[in-house]
Order: sequence, then structure tokens, then C-alpha cells
Amino acid sequence: MPPAHPFDDDKLREECGIFGVVGVQDASTFVALGLHALQHRGQEAGGIVSHDPDHGFNQARRFGYVRDNFTSQKIMETLPGPIAIGHVRYSTSGSKGQTAIRDVQPFFGEFSMGGAAIAHNGNITNANALRRELIERGSIFQSSSDSECIIHLMARSMGRSIPDRMEEALRKVEGAFSVVAMTRTKLIGVRDPLGVRPLVLGKIGDGWALSSETCALDIIGAEFVREIRPGEMVVINGSGVQSHFPFRPQPSRFCIFEHVYFSRPDSILGGRSVYETRENIGRELAKESPVDADLVCPVPDSGTPAAIGYSLQSGIPYAMGIIRNQYMGRTFIEPTEQIRNMGVRLKLNVNRALIKDKRVILVDDSVVRGTTSRKIKEMILDAGAREVHFRIASPPTAWPCFYGVDTPQREKLLAATMSEDEMCRHLAVDSLKFISLDGLYRAVGEAQGRNAECPQYCDACFSGEYPVEPADMLEQGFEMKPAAE
Ligand code: SF4
Repeated sequence: MPPAHPFDDDKLREECGIFGVVGVQDASTFVALGLHALQHRGQEAGGIVSHDPDHGFNQARRFGYVRDNFTSQKIMETLPGPIAIGHVRYSTSGSKGQTAIRDVQPFFGEFSMGGAAIAHNGNITNANALRRELIERGSIFQSSSDSECIIHLMARSMGRSIPDRMEEALRKVEGAFSVVAMTRTKLIGVRDPLGVRPLVLGKIGDGWALSSETCALDIIGAEFVREIRPGEMVVINGSGVQSHFPFRPQPSRFCIFEHVYFSRPDSILGGRSVYETRENIGRELAKESPVDADLVCPVPDSGTPAAIGYSLQSGIPYAMGIIRNQYMGRTFIEPTEQIRNMGVRLKLNVNRALIKDKRVILVDDSVVRGTTSRKIKEMILDAGAREVHFRIASPPTAWPCFYGVDTPQREKLLAATMSEDEMCRHLAVDSLKFISLDGLYRAVGEAQGRNAECPQYCDACFSGEYPVEPADMLEQGFEMKPAAE
């Protein structure tokens, strides 16, 4: 599966997808299918661990797409058993951009009461301090991933069972984590107290599944049961699902960008269809920032539902003014400006017959560096458009994410250094408007907008208000937004 958006360096990227199944024959096959449906959350590498009473724990980790690795009978035969978990990754805080196989999850640990494997989506914001302390106390790390800290913390715990040890380990961890883990017989799911990253529970026959998103339950024919709640730990075995809440309760702060871009449009988040939410965002955008024009065109594919919403609200016809080549993978993405510029034309082409002499509204999900927006604007003007108006389905992305999403450094974010008017001039478009934070909150179902005293979501990449202090980054010199700003 190609990346969710063709311009890899000009989009925020979700870094992981996790999936687990217990109580079905050949659980690893279901996990492979689930990971395939979660491929948009990470394309660099994937791994599966399974357990079978006759063969014990087995694991396979590979670079590349799930479809290129975990469809091979040779590999899948090495992963037998009724319980398995898996992980797809971009690169997390480990070897960024250059995934090493030792950084590919799930991670496995052998404890006195048996083995356990864990797969983590999110980012541990105090990982550096934890790692230093663990190494001083004798831990030997195998990878550069923050997630490995969890295994070492479990090894140091005096808990009598794997779930007890995991609970104790996760109490020491700060930041964002959704975790799927397994022992020989138990599937375990945990979400951090703020519930920043998603995790859902599904039922398949007599078995159970845990997944980052509901779209992956659909692919294996599992019924969506419910979301794992913020701060909840579920332990699933033959006798069912046991739930408890081991962390100090806090108001939840789910990542609002999952609604805008990361999650697949056919997933359900917070009881709402992601597709419908994105359409709502387009409607809000049309209400907030109307403009006289002839066509509304999405920047495919991620801008499509918002463009449809904008068109429905404004009454301006929707058109596929830009066509995406569906067969472009990451192969052509090279780290030079020249090839990057070519890359846009290789992946997107303007539908000239539609665009010529038209005033065009282009709807995109976000502006990160702005390099892609500029290029697309040029392509539209080259095709003979009379005017180009950008409408963006998220507020200006002015702050990096430290909770499991790959973001450029702050100074590389266009909105960190320019006002909306300056960005409009920089992109040389006729107008540029972003949805407001309140408008985005309304679109996700918060009728009164954002509660400034206690925001209902994490929106730090827009607001600069981080729900968990990014301790490691502060240590490295990152400057938070002053309280009064
Ligand atoms: S900072 Fe942005 S991308 Fe990161 S978790 Fe918060 S809302 Fe999501």
C-alpha cells in the first residue's frame, strides 16, 4: 500500500499501527491482515510474534510492506498458534529515517513467569531519563527505540504476573502509549491515561482482537465491540475480557489530528465515522471562509472528504481537478529538492480540461512545510486556472508532535515562522484560509468548540499546549510556548 499521502516530507506521519488476536486458529494470519489494513500508519517495517504450545514463541520482523512479507507461506508457517500480535512502523524515536531491524517491534522479553511480547504506538516523552537510569542499573538495551524501556522496566518489576509487571512499568512511563501485548495465553491492551493514541476491541468468533483502528477489524470480519478507554488495561484470555484502570484518572486528550488525517476514513473514532467528521470539517471551513469560485477540488486523497463537505456547504461544484497516480510508492522519493519537485508531478497531475479558465478552491488536510502546496498551486496555474484559493482542513501546524507522530523541527514548519497572510504571500495564492481550532472542535462533535480551560483533545501541534510535558525534548533545548502567548 502506498503512503496515505504522496508527499512524504510535507506531511505529518503517524508512526505506528498495532494489532493483536487471541482465541483463533492461525492468529498470525489475522494479524497480518490487520496490519495490512493499518499500513497507512507505518510503511517502513513490520513484525509479528505468535505463541503455540508446541513451538513456544516465534517471531518475524521484516522491512517493507506487510503484503510483501507476511503473505509468504514460508514466513507465516513459522508463526503458528492461537495468539499473536503485530506492529507496523514508520520510524519512532529510535533510528529515525533509517529503521534498523533491531528497532522493529514487537519486542520480546523472557521473565521468570514466562515470555511476553509488546507492540507500542505512541512516544515515551521521558524515555531518555528512563533509559539512562535503566542502563546505570545494568539493563542492556538491544534497540534504540523508546518502547524497549517498557520491557526493561517490566524486568525490574517485582510484580507476580506479566500484567502486574506491565502495569508497574507503564506507571513510570510518561507520554502517549497504546500498547498491545501478549503472554503465552493472554492478550493485553493498554491506553495511556490521556488516551492520546487510539486502540479498539473487536470480537471474532470465540476470539478477540485489539487494533489501532476499526478498519483493521473489518478486514478480518471482526465485530467492533468498543474503544479501550483512556487509562484502561484489558487482559483477555479464554474466560473473556477483564478490565481495570491502573492509572490516576485524568480528563482524556485524544489526538485531534487522527480525525483530520491519520486514521483511515472508513474507521470509527469516538463513535463517529472519520469520513463524516472530515466532511463536517469541510462544511465548517466553508462557513468560516467562503470565497466566490467555480470549482472545489481536493488535494488527493486525504483532502477529498473535506472538499466534498466544502462543496456541499457552499454549493460550488466538486471536481477531481487533480488526479493521483495510485501506483506511486515511495520509490521515487529522494532527498534532493530537484527530485522532490519532480515527485509532485510524477504523483499528481492536473485535469486540464476541468481547470482551464476556472477559479479553483483547493482543499488539503494540512500545510506542514508548504513545499507541496506551492508546487500544486503552480501546476494548477500552468493548467490555465484563473484563481487559486487554498482551504486547509486543520489549523496552522505550528508546533511539533512528541506523541508518536513524525514532525519536522519547529523552524521547518511554515506556520511556526509566518502568519496566515505571510503564508498566503509565500505560497503566492489568491487566498489561504485554515479552519479555526473552534471550527475543528465543532466538526468533531464539540458543539461549543474548544474548552480553553480544559481542552477536550490533544491539539498541541496547533495550539502549542502540550498535555504531557515533553521532558526529553526540554532537556534537548526545545522551548515551550510561554504561558501568556
Ligand atoms: S500534537 Fe498533534 S499530532 Fe501530536 S498527538 Fe497532539 S494533536 Fe495529535
